[in-house]
Amino acid sequence: ISGDGVMIFFRLCVFSLMWAFFGQSLCAATVVNDESLTAEGDGSNWLGFGRNYSEQRYSPLDQINTKTVSDLGIEWVMELPKDKSLLATPLVVDGVIYFTASYSVTRAVEAKTGKLLWEFDPESIKNAGDRLVNMWDQNKGPAFWNGKVIISTIDGRLIGLDAKTGEKIWEKMTIDPRKAYYITGAPKVFKGKVIIGNGGTEHTAARGYVTAYNADTGEQEWRFWVVPGNPADGFESDAMEMAAKTWNGEWWKYGGGGNTWHGITYDPEFDQLLIGTGNGSPWNQKVRSPGGGDNLFLCSIVALDADTGDYKWHYQTVPGETWDYNSNMDIVLADLKYGGQEIKALMHAPKNGFFYVLNRENGELLSAEKIAKTTWASHIDLKTGRPVEIPGARYEDGEQVVWPSPFGAHSWHAMSYNPDTGLVYIPTIEMAGTFRDSGINLKAFKSPKSHVEVGVEFGMEDTPEDWGTAKLQAWDPIKQERVWEHKLPASWNPGTMTSKGNLVFEGRADGRFVAYHAETGEPLWSIELGLGISAPPVTYSVDGKQYISLLVGWGGAGTIAGSHAAQHGWKYKVHPRRLYTFSLDGNIPVPYSPPPAFAVPLDPPDFEVDEALATQGLKIYSQSCFLCHGGSAVSGGMAPDLRESAIPLSATAFSEVLIKGALVENGMPRFKDFNSEHVVALTHYIRKLSLIPIS
Ligand code: CA
Repeated sequence: ISGDGVMIFFRLCVFSLMWAFFGQSLCAATVVNDESLTAEGDGSNWLGFGRNYSEQRYSPLDQINTKTVSDLGIEWVMELPKDKSLLATPLVVDGVIYFTASYSVTRAVEAKTGKLLWEFDPESIKNAGDRLVNMWDQNKGPAFWNGKVIISTIDGRLIGLDAKTGEKIWEKMTIDPRKAYYITGAPKVFKGKVIIGNGGTEHTAARGYVTAYNADTGEQEWRFWVVPGNPADGFESDAMEMAAKTWNGEWWKYGGGGNTWHGITYDPEFDQLLIGTGNGSPWNQKVRSPGGGDNLFLCSIVALDADTGDYKWHYQTVPGETWDYNSNMDIVLADLKYGGQEIKALMHAPKNGFFYVLNRENGELLSAEKIAKTTWASHIDLKTGRPVEIPGARYEDGEQVVWPSPFGAHSWHAMSYNPDTGLVYIPTIEMAGTFRDSGINLKAFKSPKSHVEVGVEFGMEDTPEDWGTAKLQAWDPIKQERVWEHKLPASWNPGTMTSKGNLVFEGRADGRFVAYHAETGEPLWSIELGLGISAPPVTYSVDGKQYISLLVGWGGAGTIAGSHAAQHGWKYKVHPRRLYTFSLDGNIPVPYSPPPAFAVPLDPPDFEVDEALATQGLKIYSQSCFLCHGGSAVSGGMAPDLRESAIPLSATAFSEVLIKGALVENGMPRFKDFNSEHVVALTHYIRKLSLIPIS
């Protein structure tokens, strides 16, 4: 280090001490930009969704390590009484935690004390209006860029907030509000821009796209469409013209899908965006693209030029997809050694059951192996890069049981990569899906306007308690083999975080938060937090002390899996939602949380179920109610269990809620197209289900 260097270092220290003296954090001036988001840093901050651009969720902090972790305890707890689903990765910048909760309500909290600094409510329910029928309350987290916190909302907006005050600086609508698009994903920043996609594949004739906006002003910079529109309207790009050759029929009438609702990574080394694209709209390819075809760019990783959004290369994980096997899962960057050569790799484990390693310079497939029971394909042919499908898997004869289910072998729950151990820590699910279209007139399929309809039977049955199993796996991405594993409670477990302390942290569906030895998998510490955990932890330090923060609030698609989700007893609104922060000298006891609670269906003696009406009710329920209230009216906790609700027993009360929107403020949408026949049919269906014993 040169003399000048010493002087600069000295001045920095004096400056830092002055800040410390005035009660500020030691590094009060982190600028969140390409430089800081590319660097490994000292671990004091967690600046981006996956900590930095690599999305590795690896922290270089080691104060909490295999020897000290037994001392880990609760430093402080923030109660979040208004929130429901908490899925977000909090960001931490200079000792301040920024996180999004239900309906993207955003809070800034002092990391040392848990003191609330500001709160911003984007009023998502109000802005969604009648579009609320397509939407959950969930959000996966904010982005941070140059003094601004940038959030997404379910109703389709991006909002830039002043990180100091929480005041709104800009707001941009990113979707056509006449369509059933919505956003649950976290925005991602890069080069002064912020990018966001959307969901909606299952609700409408959705055509997926991502849009990049100026992070300072919200002005649109570029948009990339994932699937081609009607060729008669002309193509937006050469990529769409190329993609259109892989489709058949009149796919544009059904939207095509490909919605990019998660899984966007900026790769600074090749100055490209890597986007993980969604499944088809509708799911059933017989409807969407009769006669087959790869249907680009469904279920792919597509590399885009960061400045223009132009197509660079793609790799498709599921050509001609027909099972909801989207590739929306996280895309993790790492340098991996292959035969003595260092490869700039990306790692990706989509729903389809395989773990992929690609060369991200050109999209070349390096390897792919199964991480869970997978019966739609026997293997991936490394010469062609294509899956070798198993005959029958496409439910050619109208019905087939296939692994994985539409919940995926791996969903959006983050995997982490530890460069010290060389292992990936990934939560996985083994669950079968029944794909049945034998009773559906596929030729008459019309895309829904807002309810759920996918061209195969969906949400018609309960998901039993023993339908699936789950694991935490430590996976060697070079050897493509499992190094250790732990059985997890079924089936919906959150993302992981790993650290230089040789640890892996993961919450669990049963409310336990666990630290494992990163090399051996030995559980070293755990704590019961009194509610199913659905968010990944983050770690950071303030004034030299390492902390871990974790949102606790059961949520996400897995919580609609009927009896399978309900078995944990995380009944709607019973258990407190919280932000927990841990440290080595934290010693606060876990605040009270009621024990697991289970629905007790009402059984009114004077109600007789009319089978025909109940069958009508099933159809309505599977299209409009199932996505929150759970399969077979068994709630997994996202919404009230209708079998024990008194509201459906009164036609007047039920109509007030369903048609007039009496409970909109709770997130229960108004179904303006429903009439009294819908109400009666649903009542008979719910009463019928109330008489079925719980599995
Ligand atoms: Ca989907």
